[in-house]
Amino acid sequence: MRILVTGGAGFIGSALVRHLVRDVGADVLNVDKLTYAGNETSLKVIENAPNYRFLKADICDGQAMNEAFASFKPDRIMHLAAESHVDRSITGAAEFVQTNVMGTFMLLEAARRYWGGLDGDERDAFRFLHVSTDEVYGSLGDEGLFHETTPYDPSSPYSASKAASDHLAIAWHRTYGLPVVVSNCSNNYGPYHFPEKLIPLIILNALDGKPLPVYGQGVNIRDWLYVEDHARALHLIASKGRLGEKYNVGGRNERRNIDVVKRICALMDKMRPKAEPHEALIKYVTDRPGHDARYAIDATRLETELGWKALENFDTGIEKTVAWYLDNEWWWRPLRDGVYSGERLGTLEKKA
Ligand code: NAD
Repeated sequence: MRILVTGGAGFIGSALVRHLVRDVGADVLNVDKLTYAGNETSLKVIENAPNYRFLKADICDGQAMNEAFASFKPDRIMHLAAESHVDRSITGAAEFVQTNVMGTFMLLEAARRYWGGLDGDERDAFRFLHVSTDEVYGSLGDEGLFHETTPYDPSSPYSASKAASDHLAIAWHRTYGLPVVVSNCSNNYGPYHFPEKLIPLIILNALDGKPLPVYGQGVNIRDWLYVEDHARALHLIASKGRLGEKYNVGGRNERRNIDVVKRICALMDKMRPKAEPHEALIKYVTDRPGHDARYAIDATRLETELGWKALENFDTGIEKTVAWYLDNEWWWRPLRDGVYSGERLGTLEKKA
């Protein structure tokens, strides 16, 4: 099995590549542009594996994608490359439209051209998994869940660009017959998460004794999934998912942001007792513009049709995650010192 993964140097992509190379034994070509969010050190444990190789390339570069398909001859594409941080999309949407919409379009076209040249079993077995987010569905009230049939209603430039790319992927199936499957997952957390995102930012700021920024009143709810559970789901969906269908992925672990932050503080009090109480560092800051109130996933289709089940719940996963950051300064220190040191992103306030 030869699998071309895009965005494999990112947070979820690297978890997927590690899973495919080590547990599945697939031959993997990781195609990644290495933006600020791409980090080859996340793949250190498999970098010398004979079934792993890396290509630094932009998915918007049609010729490079055509060449990658022609030389690697993949059986499957798993497309994760994207601009992924909502806050950055608020102040710099152009990159999101470029990579998430145009890049997906270029990749679909390269896949269609390559798949069009396959015959027989190879053509029948080919798959294009487009990896997306639950944020395309917009915001929930106090009740209810996102189902695969929930209408799209994105709020941020990020989620709007992902919604557009989902529509392109499904259209390439309906119009050209490309064997596409789409997955929509809730918020991920776990090791190798770039420190601009809520959970790693809170852990590292707590470690440094810096303020722990909580947007608004901290009452927004996210449905948290451990990244390795997501990686297993993606392999399953790409292997057994029905063509032209969507699969929601989520761990049934809804938490208010403030409760996530307080849980991390409690773990830090336990693991770094000299600096307790970490909760004293919590600082409520101006809310994110267009901040969706609540996300919650109904993963019944994935669970019943494909037999997937999350192995971690939030309590086990967050403890592992905090411990991982405390043990792996070699990974995050260069990012904190050189790429992103924790400043606020995505406000519309004018700078004084
Ligand atoms: P990430 O930002 O950590 O990684 C994105 C990767 O894509 C990086 O390695 C980056 O270098 C690469 N990339 C960006 N632009 C590229 C381009 N033009 N060409 C090639 N490579 C490029 O993102 P992530 O959190 O790992 O998310 C991966 C995918 O999963 C995204 O499509 C995202 O929308 C989706 N998703 C993320 C979450 C989440 O909680 N993080 C949840 C659901 C879905």
